[in-house]
Amino acid sequence: MKKDEYDVIVIGSGGAGMIAAITSRKLGFKVLLLEKLPTLGSKLKATGGGKCNLTNTLSNDDFMNSFGRNGKFMIKAISMLDKNDLRDFFSSIGVQTDTKDGFRIFPVTHNSSTIINALEKELHRLEVDVLCDVKVEKILVDGIKTTGVDTSKGEFISSNIIVATGGLGFPMLGANGDGYSFAKELGHKVTDLYPAMLPLITKETWVGDCTADTIAKAIVRIDLKKAKKLKAIGDLIFTSKGLRGPVILDFSREITPLLEKYDEVPLLINMVKGKNEDEVFQHLKKQSSLNPDYNIVELVSTLLPASVSKSLCLEVGADINKKFKEQDGQVRNNLVKIIVNTPLTVIDSVGFKKAMITRGGVSLKEINPETMQSKIIDGLYFCGEVMDLDGPCGGYNLQWSFSSGNLAGHLYK
Ligand SMILES: Cc1cc2nc3c(=O)[nH]c(=O)nc-3n(C[C@H](O)[C@H](O)[C@H](O)COP(=O)(O)OP(=O)(O)OC[C@H]3O[C@@H](n4cnc5c(N)ncnc54)[C@H](O)[C@@H]3O)c2cc1C
Repeated sequence: MKKDEYDVIVIGSGGAGMIAAITSRKLGFKVLLLEKLPTLGSKLKATGGGKCNLTNTLSNDDFMNSFGRNGKFMIKAISMLDKNDLRDFFSSIGVQTDTKDGFRIFPVTHNSSTIINALEKELHRLEVDVLCDVKVEKILVDGIKTTGVDTSKGEFISSNIIVATGGLGFPMLGANGDGYSFAKELGHKVTDLYPAMLPLITKETWVGDCTADTIAKAIVRIDLKKAKKLKAIGDLIFTSKGLRGPVILDFSREITPLLEKYDEVPLLINMVKGKNEDEVFQHLKKQSSLNPDYNIVELVSTLLPASVSKSLCLEVGADINKKFKEQDGQVRNNLVKIIVNTPLTVIDSVGFKKAMITRGGVSLKEINPETMQSKIIDGLYFCGEVMDLDGPCGGYNLQWSFSSGNLAGHLYK
């Protein structure tokens, strides 16, 4: 049975879908927002540890550069809704925002429900038709033009469809890759998809003895010729099977595609704030004369947490009951080397079930950056994570969802 006709149907109620629906409705279009889960914005609710890191204070150029070579695709969307516009928009619907660290921007309540409630209220105020528990199963087309959607509750008609279905990460929050299937069925290319922003698993098991400690400002590099230029700096945490922490979440989007290719990705990690071998050697020598009773683990613990110190000493075959100067010369050299460049081998990730974002998506080559409209199907638009764009941790991905959703919602032809 056919249902009402709409100017636009938005599929998915994440940040991208909700703002697309609001923008379209404000422009006078009749809008239907469809969400397959029982409530709106499930993933949005989980963002920023429940606090919702909406965006950040970077300049628009630096923001776009952080997305890599695809970043330039965002120019139009960001110019129409950048961080300041986003904060103004939320302020206009009753949500004040702030930044405590001068970089990440949150709602002042530090509660993602504030964001979802305000967006829901605005959808209601604007009289957007919102249906939850409705799964879109197919986008209907006539030749090269969209005509509607087929859903778990029947067909809905519209000549404009906005796909805001998100990625593959955290499937319990709604991500199941439907948007990629829709895109492929309609002739779009979808690039390879990788889990990103997630913990990694290492071959070395000693990490499991160091789970209690955080290493501040660790410098992580990939020890592959092809990836020599890539590095990330930030807090590192050991898990029972590998690595997590902000620096790993950020860097994992570079590592998971390499894992697919090489099976193992060797890392070199500097956990001593960039100190080089000479500086570490001099430090150990000085501490050794200041603390003549220290055994080697106690001595290295003046640089690193005790658990990590012990593990590294054992890795190089040091006798942990003896002092630094009592160790074999080669052991001392190897210890200094491993402190400066700790080798760890990534052999796996925890997969899409714990991936905050998806690397890859609907190819940008077939989407018009000025409109977010498909270059293949008239009336088909994409926004948010379903597209081949992913940024680091720190409000990048949500800002992109809102900016691209806003542009798609204009229904520019
Ligand atoms: C735990 C976690 C924390 C995060 N924290 C941050 C953060 O603090 N800051 C930041 O910038 N980014 C963060 N991210 C990333 C960010 O949440 C996503 O990039 C962003 O939410 C993507 O928005 P979206 O609207 O494109 O997709 P989503 O928010 O994933 O929304 C897509 C919606 O579409 C619905 N849908 C899918 N298929 C269908 C269908 N067939 N029919 C109907 N509905 C459908 C889904 O149920 C879902 O509700 C985090 C991610 C996770 C998982």
